[in-house]
Amino acid sequence: MSEQFDVVVIGGGPAGYPAAIRAAQNGLSVACIDGWQNRDGSYAFGGTCLNAGCIPSKALLESSELYHRARSEFAVHGISTGDVAMDVAQMQARKNNIVKASTQGILGLFKAAKVTPLQGHGRLLSGKRVEFTAADGTVRLLSAGSVILASGSTPMALPSVPFDGVQVVDSWGALDFAAVPQRVGVIGAGVIGLELGSVWRRLGAQVTVLEAMETFLPMADEAVAKEALKQFKKQGLNMRLGAKVTGATRAPSGVTVQYTEATGAQSAEFDRVVVAIGRRPYTADLLGEDTGVTRDARGFIVVDDHCGTGVEGVYAVGDCVRGPMLAHKGKEEGVMAADRIAGRWGHVNYATIPSVIYTAPEIAWVGLTEAQVKASGRDYKVGSFPFLASGRARAMEAANGFAKVIAAVDDDSLLGVHVIGPMAGELIGEAVLALEYSATAEDLQRTIHAHPTLSEALHEAALAADKRAIDYPNR
Ligand code: FAD
Ligand code: NAD
Repeated sequence: MSEQFDVVVIGGGPAGYPAAIRAAQNGLSVACIDGWQNRDGSYAFGGTCLNAGCIPSKALLESSELYHRARSEFAVHGISTGDVAMDVAQMQARKNNIVKASTQGILGLFKAAKVTPLQGHGRLLSGKRVEFTAADGTVRLLSAGSVILASGSTPMALPSVPFDGVQVVDSWGALDFAAVPQRVGVIGAGVIGLELGSVWRRLGAQVTVLEAMETFLPMADEAVAKEALKQFKKQGLNMRLGAKVTGATRAPSGVTVQYTEATGAQSAEFDRVVVAIGRRPYTADLLGEDTGVTRDARGFIVVDDHCGTGVEGVYAVGDCVRGPMLAHKGKEEGVMAADRIAGRWGHVNYATIPSVIYTAPEIAWVGLTEAQVKASGRDYKVGSFPFLASGRARAMEAANGFAKVIAAVDDDSLLGVHVIGPMAGELIGEAVLALEYSATAEDLQRTIHAHPTLSEALHEAALAADKRAIDYPNR
């Protein structure tokens, strides 16, 4: 006999658990199966994001930034601290506590919403049946009105530098170093490489970032990427662009990574190597025979604009489907699927998904880059405002970077907003709302921004697009 649920969600990360909660809010009976296991074998909801991604990385970014500031930036405020000591064990314990509170919080949310949590492995069978295998090997058959697949992603391995979990690690390993390594090699100058490279650099490691491409942060606006590269180099990150890794040799003293650059073959020795070359969809043992659900050549589950798999009542959301691998994108897809299952309107505006890189300065954007607008052939205008001209940023001793607004000439609509600077990840919220509501540059210009705030930079950048900035000379 199978147990009956209106909705079964497989995967309890930031795409799956909101889907389960929204489905329950819609009055449906819901089970959410999740198989995440910590290193000690214990189960935890929350997926990559809460256990080994967004949350622990931001906890360490905060600690390492405070340490760096206490050592290097307090003096200018007239604050002397004497020797600033670092306790990595305490930093890690704090991070682990934050992770634990966050993941256990999901169980509380499930209880309140009346979602049945099932910890173990889920597999979709034909006919919207789901096989659930618990930790003790017990197998239960669930029968579902609808199924939402939210199985997430996993780090890509580099065959020439295989993971060993000690000297060569993935992002999860790099979040767990018990002491500051002297020499860290990061392979990949993407979001993970930059965030985790920054953590260990701020804590005193020599960090070398080996990036295969010549172009730095190709997904960001060119001006932002240029400023970011300048700032990261200033912080002492040894950025090697166009560095193609060819192999690695291990010895007790360290790992020697071989790579080629324009100047020829190179090698460098590191105590720890972090491989951060992207992630791939994770669908291992997710689909049984004849489910009708298909995967593309890269392993992503194939879905339509509303995350339908083409099999009636079966949806897939989050990192296991196309689109940016971001927690908030997965969350919106999960909520959309749960609403559509209940016959409600559910939609994701893929054009207004913000990106944030939590380095210092932070980097954030929404909409199109200048290169993308140029390629579209549409006439456009650009306004930029440097944080150097922001009273608040100067008062914060954080005046690096700028805000940039791109708007169409024909109808003044905002096409893209890019920020590199203090709290960029928070500032971008206003721009997301503006794009969501199809605002124009004039709308942003006429919106009153409190003084002195960092958000004035967005206001002034919008004014600058029409050469009407007040606090910075218009060019
Ligand atoms: P996941 O979070 O991977 O969750 C999937 C869950 O499903 C996992 O628990 C997995 O164990 C489980 N599962 C898979 N298959 C089965 C099965 N068959 N049965 C049962 N359970 C199964 N994104 C941001 O937006 N902001 C950030 O700041 C950010 N920082 C990051 C930092 C790092 C270091 C990393 C690695 C990622 C970061 N990300 C960030 C990306 C973010 O973590 C992912 O986009 C997000 O977790 C994807 O959510 P998901 O629910 O699709 O998948
Ligand atoms: P990424 O795609 O952001 O960057 C990978 C980088 O590695 C690219 O620059 C690529 O050119 C480079 N690369 C690939 N193969 C290489 C090789 N052989 N040698 C050297 N460089 C190589 O991937 P990531 O940094 O691993 O992050 C994975 C995903 O997690 C991303 O999609 C990202 O969106 C998500 N994430 C998001 C955040 C955030 O939102 N703040 C933080 C961390 C991770």
